[in-house]
Amino acid sequence: ALTIGIVGLPNVGKSTLFNALTRNNVLAANYPFATIEPNVGVVSLPDPRLAQLAEIFGSQRLLPAVVSFVDIAGIVKGASEGEGLGNKFLANIREAEAIAQVIRVFDDPDVVHVDGKVDPSSDMETINTELILADMQTIEKAIPRVEKAVKLKQREAAELNAIKAAQAVLERGDTIFSSIKSDKLEMEHLKELGLLTAKPFIYVFNVDDAVLGNPERQEELRALVAPADAIFLDAKLESDLVELDEDEAREMLEMSGQEESGLDQLARVGFHTLGLQTYLTAGPKEARAWTIHQGDTAPQAAGVIHTDFQRGFIKAEVVHFDDLMEAGSMHEAKAKGKVRIEGKEYVMHDGDVVEFRFNV
Ligand code: GDP
Repeated sequence: ALTIGIVGLPNVGKSTLFNALTRNNVLAANYPFATIEPNVGVVSLPDPRLAQLAEIFGSQRLLPAVVSFVDIAGIVKGASEGEGLGNKFLANIREAEAIAQVIRVFDDPDVVHVDGKVDPSSDMETINTELILADMQTIEKAIPRVEKAVKLKQREAAELNAIKAAQAVLERGDTIFSSIKSDKLEMEHLKELGLLTAKPFIYVFNVDDAVLGNPERQEELRALVAPADAIFLDAKLESDLVELDEDEAREMLEMSGQEESGLDQLARVGFHTLGLQTYLTAGPKEARAWTIHQGDTAPQAAGVIHTDFQRGFIKAEVVHFDDLMEAGSMHEAKAKGKVRIEGKEYVMHDGDVVEFRFNV
């Protein structure tokens, strides 16, 4: 499904962050898969709209959209040499839709750094180098095959050129993801290679209090990873926060000068990086946010609830959340002409409140 793989050097705080993700108990009951898979943790996407919807529809419970994270342990310097990156590692990371790289910024004499000192840009380079080397191997294997196919006119020269352009990016030490725009990479020709560095990257800087309260230092770190997204959190603080009830957690966050927990940020930025959006459904039982890709059509959106809904899709009754709130009730929204009937071609918007009609 839509999972983000967490990678990073040893001792940077991955397990600490991951524990916070998996102990996010509120979710476990509603999202049982999160507790079944030991290496999967979920966070819900904060969405104040659900409570407002629940008020209008008298919904008993709220089900936010979630982003799931998979713990991909096992990356160290030299991992791509010799035996190569472990098979399990590669399989896990290939399945992930995006990569969140945890980088240690916190200073703590009691926690050994694998390279002897805390150096975010060097750590980042170590990890990225391993992923880049793995991709270079993939490309070196692919090129003779594609060259042959081009000679036999089974494939277009453009495909080969796209692959060679990607190879040049990797050879100069850059990831594919960070070079898509600058190098005008033709991603449609690279898809089948499943390159690791072509996945969207998010950088998670594991910082201490000093950096949480220092926007200038954050900007410096952010600049290191641009155009990829960066977030700043204190993994230890996050693992404490999940143990507290809502009010206590809010208080503790405020004391640390943050408006939003690191896990919430992770969900929000992850959602954005993956090109996702949500639409909403509501009834007396539940008010719920459903995850879809930007640009998805109404039948695709229906398919997220159930594949039968997509197959038997007839139409969708749609009102935008903002219009519904302004009207105050479904009845009023209808009277004002804000509730539309949309067909198969309709492209969904974030915040559409929907009821599907379908044949089964
Ligand atoms: P992993 O090897 O990347 O999974 O790292 P761990 O999560 O096991 O963390 C390694 C050590 O660093 C543990 O002793 C953690 O308690 C500590 N640690 C993790 N995050 C932080 C942090 O934000 N601040 C401080 N001071 N220590 C941390």
